[in-house]
Amino acid sequence: MEKEKDYLLQISDLTVQYNTDDAVVHSVNNFNLNLVRGEARGLVGETGAGKTTTALSILRLLPAKVGEIVKGSINYNGEDLLTLPEAEMLPLRGKKISMIFQDPMTSLNPTHTVGAQIHEVLDLHFPEMSRAEKDKRVDEMMTLVGIPPERKDSYPHEFSGGMKQRIVIAMALVAEPELLLADEPTTALDVTIQAQILELMKQLKEKFNTSVLLITHDLGVVAQFCDSVSVVYAGQVVEFGPVEEVFKRKENHPYTAGLFNCIPDLNDQQPRLHPIPGRMANPRVLHEGCCFADRCEYACDRCRKEKPAMHVSGEHGIMCHRYEDKEVF
Ligand code: SF4
Repeated sequence: MEKEKDYLLQISDLTVQYNTDDAVVHSVNNFNLNLVRGEARGLVGETGAGKTTTALSILRLLPAKVGEIVKGSINYNGEDLLTLPEAEMLPLRGKKISMIFQDPMTSLNPTHTVGAQIHEVLDLHFPEMSRAEKDKRVDEMMTLVGIPPERKDSYPHEFSGGMKQRIVIAMALVAEPELLLADEPTTALDVTIQAQILELMKQLKEKFNTSVLLITHDLGVVAQFCDSVSVVYAGQVVEFGPVEEVFKRKENHPYTAGLFNCIPDLNDQQPRLHPIPGRMANPRVLHEGCCFADRCEYACDRCRKEKPAMHVSGEHGIMCHRYEDKEVF
């Protein structure tokens, strides 16, 4: 009998909208995802696909009044985070589930030393710890992320972008969370620093056995860091599976295939890249049929009228009418 999976996080049918003055923006639409304990999952898709909104929904940090979770559930360790009282969310945020925000330049408070900002996490979540123990932990964490502890009394402006991101990672991991939401952690950094930060995150993930949801638009980052990937388009997962399988398949979802085609190939002498035609689906409009129909070269009448189902085979799933017949896999 197949061993039952130990899911840390299960997102089912999550639907999130932003209610602005002039329109309702449908940011996340019937989003589903299962994350096994210890797994690193990449959430990949274009800007505006709803990846960050999904992460903010997990922490219940959507902007007040504007952001609204319309339906769905987010089960974390078997408990629905969406029904927990706010008082029970507070000890989870930063301790059990923490987040690395996209831009290290704006994630740190410029008026506090970096040591004090790492210390603050321990003050909030480990009040029983002595001052000396916390100091020791801050020093250890700074060493782990490759910054000499003697620099803990420096301010964020005294560090480079890569070093700031290391401090943000130290803050996110000092409480040894079970789940790390990393929102484009390397986007603001240059390529060599990107590689260092990904390597550091990999080492720390192994050390603390942290599960990771890595938000990115870069399939290269997914290949380097993740065990599995969910491809997100217009607030929905359109394809998911183990990284190896998704990357090596002969046939992917047309959107995933389009993302692969956008990657420059040094051996290919073609003068132009192959971008996905058209624009992201308008999030103010709910689509009757497939959300990718306006940009898909295979779109037919049925695609425009009827939403495709998720066709799952083993650990891989694809949301497209063309894959209804399992033999196509
Ligand atoms: Fe393209 Fe139709 Fe598949 Fe959507 S359902 S991805 S429009 S072929």
